Amino acid sequence: MVDTIKITLEGVTESRLPQTDFNNLPFGKVYTDHMFMADYRDGQWKNFRIVPYGHMLVSPATPAIHYGQSIFEGMKAYLGTNGEVLIFRPHDNLQRLNLSADRMCMPPVPEEIFMEGLRELLHVDKAWIPSAPGSSLYIRPFVFSADEYIGIRPSQDFTFMIIMSPVGAYYSNPVKVKIETHYTRAVAGGTGYAKAGGNYGGAIYPTKLAAQEGFHQLIWTDGVKHEYIEESGTMNVMFVFNDTLVTPALSDSILAGITRDSIVKLAQSWGMKVEERKVSVKEIVAHLTQGTLQEAFGVGTAATIANIEAIGYEGNLYTLPPVEQRVIAHKIYQELDAIKRGTQPDRFGWIMKL
Ligand SMILES: *Cc1c(COP(=O)(O)O)cnc(C)c1O
Repeated sequence: MVDTIKITLEGVTESRLPQTDFNNLPFGKVYTDHMFMADYRDGQWKNFRIVPYGHMLVSPATPAIHYGQSIFEGMKAYLGTNGEVLIFRPHDNLQRLNLSADRMCMPPVPEEIFMEGLRELLHVDKAWIPSAPGSSLYIRPFVFSADEYIGIRPSQDFTFMIIMSPVGAYYSNPVKVKIETHYTRAVAGGTGYAKAGGNYGGAIYPTKLAAQEGFHQLIWTDGVKHEYIEESGTMNVMFVFNDTLVTPALSDSILAGITRDSIVKLAQSWGMKVEERKVSVKEIVAHLTQGTLQEAFGVGTAATIANIEAIGYEGNLYTLPPVEQRVIAHKIYQELDAIKRGTQPDRFGWIMKL
């Protein structure tokens, strides 16, 4: 274990900030000037450093490339009204990173390394946090195997990194989703609850097929009979009917979203009825055909809320009530966004302030 960590800084000679158009920030295309790195060697995390963002050397034999020994996180920082940096629930991201690490036979990242690396990197690149409404700084911590060995076994060497990307409002448009009943994202006993690289690589093809039919995203169902709703590509999914907020209960094939958890707690604090339970496709389709599905939306860090305007299932397309009439999604978005930006009291203790 490490008590105090010393982070070295190699700053850029010239910032890319002046050439960056903050009015045009497509998600995940623009990165800040610096990145944080740490190496795991001989059973210890070491070489804590902030260096210019850029390409890096990795062995062509690394298991991260060959076998997907790679995990990641996604979180956001916001600029508060007094210029302070507000990070939303970073300790929960660390906890989930280490849950993923455990599943993928990787060493946990100690809290001090994660938080100090994050703090220092945000300090160095603070000017990259956008301030326009709906915008934020997306933070991507990740760990991958750095062994030079193409055998399949638990690796010995790892790299932990944090990169950051300023983003404008993302997914603000309502989405059309398809309930997937052939392909599978995750199964019981698999790695679905981990934010592990391969889970996403395997989802690209079925998502592409759905895109060819005009859908923005999939809603995954259980991998055995495709009878129960699981989640969306990088978002958990929520429904409102009978004035109740309903979301699939967590399992080892569902990623435990921090946005999902925040929304459940928020809705409960309003006295709203919330159900975390198995949600069958049949039940949702029945509400769709009877017109009793009030709202449906995806929830995740990237979008916060992505309103679903239509759901495709076995060749039929069901349209939901107009997005302008959505009361719950709107209220959730407003309140969560206000907490994240520090314009409403942090009554759940979710904000880490720098
Ligand atoms: C990251 C992710 C989510 C959302 O998690 P948040 O912590 O809310 O961002 C949901 N599902 C999957 C598959 C994910 O990878």
